[in-house]
Amino acid sequence: MRVVESEAKSILVASKLPDADYVINPYTGCAFGCSYCYATFMGRYVGETAEEWGQYVYVKTNAVILAREEIPKLQRTHGSATLLLSSVTDPYQGVESKYRLTRGVLGALVDASWAGRVSILTKSPLVTRDIDLFRSLTRAEVGLTVTSTDDRVSKWLEVRAPKASARIAALAELRDAGVPVYAFVGPLLPHFRQSRSELDELFEAISSAGVREVYVEHMNLKPYIRERLEPRLAGEPQSIRDSFAVARQREMHHEVDELVNQLLSKHNLHLRLGEVLDHQSGVAAAAVHRAPAGLRSDSVAEPQTPRPN
Ligand code: SF4
Repeated sequence: MRVVESEAKSILVASKLPDADYVINPYTGCAFGCSYCYATFMGRYVGETAEEWGQYVYVKTNAVILAREEIPKLQRTHGSATLLLSSVTDPYQGVESKYRLTRGVLGALVDASWAGRVSILTKSPLVTRDIDLFRSLTRAEVGLTVTSTDDRVSKWLEVRAPKASARIAALAELRDAGVPVYAFVGPLLPHFRQSRSELDELFEAISSAGVREVYVEHMNLKPYIRERLEPRLAGEPQSIRDSFAVARQREMHHEVDELVNQLLSKHNLHLRLGEVLDHQSGVAAAAVHRAPAGLRSDSVAEPQTPRPN
């Protein structure tokens, strides 16, 4: 893992996501290296290839300084804007233990008495470290991405991310601490169509952790993402490979949507944004991660794409 310290020019980026006005990404790159990640294009801005995704993290060492400059300015014009950490990186990946940039940005929001919603999205239980700050914010909420209850599955596709079981435990801990929580079930793994009980178990686990709010998103299988996934699928049974092969078909999405709706009702879960998010329909989005072109991270204001993690 290469950790590169860099300086950004700005840290608050206007967002086109349906539920976030601005995003904050303290890092470029992500050590978790999920095989389905669609933020790999971020490498362009720091001179890295898609193949290297998961092998590098650029640390925006001045992120907290920038946040302390930019938040009061935004507050004067958009004081109740919704902020998301993060859209194209995981704000609680390993380097956060050392650099504490996410914590620093949250501290800046606390000190500014930020009135808008601050939404966190991560795959890491390290997020529980900052419960004190979530409690101090006016409208904080924390989401954990969970795509399976099977740690072997999370290890398979979310290569270096914390185990799924640890994420569900983190949700329960946050909820017990009084922090509003949500789960991000995305991407929906295509084989759920054949293994309905697995999706049932996942929603059951989320519900049992005390979570009531969920985003659900179909897998984005654009060619550049599929290319990274192929090696992971190569050794899998034909039925799994087949499920990925047809996963972009609309009828498959509809079939899975019906199953999701049944299970949401069964487990008393509320679907955020009112539908299963779908990159093909343009309603993509929730939270995995995105930014801009051809420039170094220290010279760029990150642009937006639809939303992971
Ligand atoms: S999906 Fe999220 S956690 Fe996984 S590599 Fe991408 S940014 Fe990191």
